[in-house]
Amino acid sequence: MNNKFTALGISSRFTETLQEAGYQTPTKIQSSAIPDLLEGRDVLGVAQTGTGKTAAFGLPLLQRLASANRTAKPRCPRALVLAPTRELAIQIFEELSFFAKGTSLRLTSIFGGVGQNPQVKKLAKGVDIVIATPGRLLDLTSQNHLDLGSIEILVLDEADRLMDMGFIRDVQKIIRQTPRSRQSLLFSATMPKEVDKLANEILNKPKRIEVAPKQVTVEKITQQAVMVDSLDKRPVLISLLFKDEVTKAIVFTRTKHGANKLAKQLNNEGISAEAIHGNKSQNARNRALQNFSNGNAWVLVATDVAARGIDIEKVSHVFNFELPHEPESYVHRIGRTARAGASGAAVSLVDPSEIKRLKAVERLIGFAIPRENVDVSSLPARSHVAVVQPATVNANQSNAHQSNSGKRSRRRHNTRRKVA
Ligand code: AMP
Repeated sequence: MNNKFTALGISSRFTETLQEAGYQTPTKIQSSAIPDLLEGRDVLGVAQTGTGKTAAFGLPLLQRLASANRTAKPRCPRALVLAPTRELAIQIFEELSFFAKGTSLRLTSIFGGVGQNPQVKKLAKGVDIVIATPGRLLDLTSQNHLDLGSIEILVLDEADRLMDMGFIRDVQKIIRQTPRSRQSLLFSATMPKEVDKLANEILNKPKRIEVAPKQVTVEKITQQAVMVDSLDKRPVLISLLFKDEVTKAIVFTRTKHGANKLAKQLNNEGISAEAIHGNKSQNARNRALQNFSNGNAWVLVATDVAARGIDIEKVSHVFNFELPHEPESYVHRIGRTARAGASGAAVSLVDPSEIKRLKAVERLIGFAIPRENVDVSSLPARSHVAVVQPATVNANQSNAHQSNSGKRSRRRHNTRRKVA
């Protein structure tokens, strides 16, 4: 039996599933939030993905709804979880569905970029919990496919990102359609003014729980800044990717175009990479994530928005091909490695124009990231030189094979292609 969760008030119908998931000890946010949420109190959680916040709000939500023992009504859910991205909505849906196994609760996820008819059909069949992105949710309420008048529990997840992505009006419109008597929860990694204002508007005497994001960056992730000219970033990245210890990596770029271009260039180097960003269709994003998750691709090139909330295990490295505009995004990015207690490494490629950004990141995390200068001429895999001097590169690459068995076949293929 899972006594530590039982002690927080989680009932036995969920503890078996918790055990199955390997959750033995509640995380900090879980032990702080669960008892209050079970009593119906509002909660303001300052915490990012990776802290266990989904189960922190999900378990009490499921338990409260399940204890009422009601049949799901068509179009009228009792709980609504709002998330900024489709990926996060899917992830929350999957985690809650897993924990809801022992109940008769019905869950549906709603997001844009796919046809609305299957979603409408599911709502019409009866639904208890909706996990949604704001735009499509409003489309469906305005067409009367969904009625928010029975919402008992409302969760805003990653509220800062909802604001960043311009969803404030939509979120306010949605909240106005829900009853005032609801229980409200707001989670946000950072608390800029507008999130604070929204929290004041919608929460009623909330319990505030803060899980310091700094610990995530400081404790388990080895960080490094590689000082490099912008034109040398690509060859430097490629040589770093081929190091033995890099087994699964996410590479962050600032723009969607940059993500696409870099993924193509990496593929041309024989590195199986997928790109994920907001301009891709839902199917293409799912496919990319699946390929990365199951190991068909070992590199995922991503933009901030697309990668937020992605939870893929065993990411050994995060590379910042470019530093983000907001220092907070750095913390979110590198949090994609070192998931659930594992260790990880984060390497940032910093060109002279980005030094200010690097300093802003260091101010936020509270320490100086070790810097290293790279002599580009000494790199083993120099794709930029490959065009001019294929023979030299091939010789260097075959040396690299010997120390890099995991990626050997891909590189050999690459070398053959270049010789041909
Ligand atoms: P979240 O912050 O909700 O995205 O959770 C981050 C990761 O931690 C997910 O992979 C969860 O499955 C995992 N997790 C959450 N709570 C626990 C727990 N109490 N014990 C072990 N793993 C957990």
